[in-house]
Amino acid sequence: MGTHVRLVVIGGGPAGVRAASTAARLGAEVVLVERDVIGGAANLWDCVPSKAMIATGALVSRARRAEALGLEPLRPGVDLPALGQRVRDIEARLAVSMTDQLESQGVDIIKGSARMAGPHLVEITPDGGAAPEQMDADAVLLATGSYPRVPEWADIDGKHVLTTRQAYPPPEIPERLVVVGSGVTGVEFVHMFRSLGSEVSLVVSRQQVLPQKDPEVAAALETDFLERGVKLLKGARATAIDRGEKTVTVHCDDGRQVEASHVLLCIGSVPASAGLGLDAAGVHMSPSGHVPVNHHCQSNVPHIYAGGDLSGRLPLASVASIQGNKIAEHVMGLHTRAHRHIDYDKAASAIFTEPEIADVGLAEAEAFALGRKIRVTKVPYAANSRALIDGDARGFVKLVSDPATGVVLGGSIVGAHAAELIGIIALAVTAHLRVIDLAESQFVHPALAEALAEAAE
Ligand SMILES: Cc1cc2nc3c(=O)[nH]c(=O)nc-3n(C[C@H](O)[C@H](O)[C@H](O)COP(=O)(O)OP(=O)(O)OC[C@H]3O[C@@H](n4cnc5c(N)ncnc54)[C@H](O)[C@@H]3O)c2cc1C
Repeated sequence: MGTHVRLVVIGGGPAGVRAASTAARLGAEVVLVERDVIGGAANLWDCVPSKAMIATGALVSRARRAEALGLEPLRPGVDLPALGQRVRDIEARLAVSMTDQLESQGVDIIKGSARMAGPHLVEITPDGGAAPEQMDADAVLLATGSYPRVPEWADIDGKHVLTTRQAYPPPEIPERLVVVGSGVTGVEFVHMFRSLGSEVSLVVSRQQVLPQKDPEVAAALETDFLERGVKLLKGARATAIDRGEKTVTVHCDDGRQVEASHVLLCIGSVPASAGLGLDAAGVHMSPSGHVPVNHHCQSNVPHIYAGGDLSGRLPLASVASIQGNKIAEHVMGLHTRAHRHIDYDKAASAIFTEPEIADVGLAEAEAFALGRKIRVTKVPYAANSRALIDGDARGFVKLVSDPATGVVLGGSIVGAHAAELIGIIALAVTAHLRVIDLAESQFVHPALAEALAEAAE
């Protein structure tokens, strides 16, 4: 590739924004086309609004524990319009700061839709009715993300039958809510609406919520749900929704049915590849609609990259952003060797429930399935002074290491601030630190992080 490189990025979510920013910094001419808002679905529909509402719910839950902390009872009510405004304000602030940053780096942001018209040709239809224009590109990043999956038996009305995109906040706080789907998104919404006062039932297709997770971790969450009065319908698949005058009824394949005021579907997502002109560019698509990529995020057409949810790798904003960075470096001829690839096994992830859940690297159950020898140490939050001081001693820290070398291979945390604390284990896993490095780190006292040092001893 010559010295001048024009990179066209389609989609301004975490993958697109990070790629645009890094490529501009490295000297590329960058055009970023986004049809909605800079920050993408991550800021508008997914990570940010869900966590903003969970933060509000967390304060309600904490207030309910006021008496345990020596206060008179506190009973906060939800101010729905104020909550909606808060969510929109956060989204707007993030969009403005990201846009300002990209513009200051010289990225040309076009508001509109784009599609491939040929291997090096992108067709852009700007908002506002102007005619489509075609633009040559040396490299293209497809980062159009995904949207919620809606089964053919569900008729979404945005009032009583909702996808996650209508829930920030919904038109009213549901009196009785059925959440269909018990993956990460489903359990976060159960927690969020239960905290905000809804009666919640969860349709769980397997025998465990969070079927991909360590059974001990999932069990900790189930215990919390049951204690908070969440009804779990295990081993049931929703097959139909009936809408009455004031109620909705979810029918399951085992004959059970649940009546509620609202239903929220959390049954996965669909990659946004339709209408993207992949054929015109010769880009292959998998049967699921993803664009398969190699370890540099290149599609089968080497100068056309795919990142974020469209690439079918780990569907996390954090991963999308790292992919974006690597893609920009690769486009600019840096880090082209295979050993610079992204190690998806070292990506930390979190579930913003109560207790919070986070993990990274090798899980105990996975090591067992692989027949790999590991050392597992576990420390309960109840043994940590900060957890007791804060009045929430639910949970544990679990550390997985190599018994021969002491190198930290992974860990899980269930409990308050797990999403923050997992960063320490993620750093240890990435930097190949040993348990002794953690054990000898001089953490603050009293702090939750001390539980990590203790698990490392
Ligand atoms: C409810 C929910 C909560 C989540 N919470 C978290 C979390 O806490 N942490 C986390 O790491 N991940 C979370 N995720 C996952 C995360 O949101 C996604 O992995 C991430 O948004 C993917 O980023 P992306 O770069 O693929 O683009 P997206 O964020 O999906 O954005 C894609 C952008 O492309 C634009 N676009 C699409 N087609 C075109 C086109 N043809 N022309 C122009 N623009 C186009 C869209 O308008 C959109 O803005 C959550 C997901 C959901 C559903």
